[in-house]
Amino acid sequence: MASIAIDGPAGAGKSTIAKLVAKEMNYIYVDTGALYRAIAYYFVTNSIDIENEEELSKACEGISVEIKYEQDAQQVYLNGENVTAFLRTEETGNMASKSSAKAPVRAALLDLQRDMAKEYNVVMDGRDIGTNVLPNAEVKIYLTASSKERANRRYKELLEKGEQADFDKIEADIIERDERDMNRAIAPLKQAEDAILVDSSDMGIDEVVNAILSAAKSKIL
Ligand code: C5P
Repeated sequence: MASIAIDGPAGAGKSTIAKLVAKEMNYIYVDTGALYRAIAYYFVTNSIDIENEEELSKACEGISVEIKYEQDAQQVYLNGENVTAFLRTEETGNMASKSSAKAPVRAALLDLQRDMAKEYNVVMDGRDIGTNVLPNAEVKIYLTASSKERANRRYKELLEKGEQADFDKIEADIIERDERDMNRAIAPLKQAEDAILVDSSDMGIDEVVNAILSAAKSKIL
């Protein structure tokens, strides 16, 4: 089985790009952020105090997360229930950003991610795929863009959905999430030594996808 790992900060376009690369390569797309969000959703709905170590460990022991594919789209099941529709909210994202720094949370998801890569050819996106989850991935990409550009994309996305958006708040939030992901003790976000850096600030989607496909084709096919 072959793996393409795409890591990078929030809002760099990882999921859009990873989905397109997976389609072209005929690989399975694994969105690992959704797994952290599923656990975060559990913490929010069960009012778990993630700063209380005992409470956190106990909660993690009682959590089962599974990935299934329905009409080619990843579905995340939490303790048997499909929670995919609840994962993209601001509240879940905020909790995921904080709880993903905790050791029991990361430990709970490691084997699931590795098992997916053992069973299928995958394009897996996240923060620590190339550095920690799949250190032997055939292709590693570190996909980034300036915080201004990432905030701008998110701002436009919200306006298109007819939602209210405050550019400065969005950018501040992105910077705060980057800080947390890059400075945590376990599996922090960083470019793997053997990863290809792709800065998409001034690149179109097709351009980024083609750059990754040519790297993949030279290493895998
Ligand atoms: O990518 P997404 O925003 O969906 O991820 C939600 C949160 O999960 C991120 O803020 C990040 O802190 C965390 N995460 C992680 N490791 C991964 C994927 C996501 O720590 N491999």
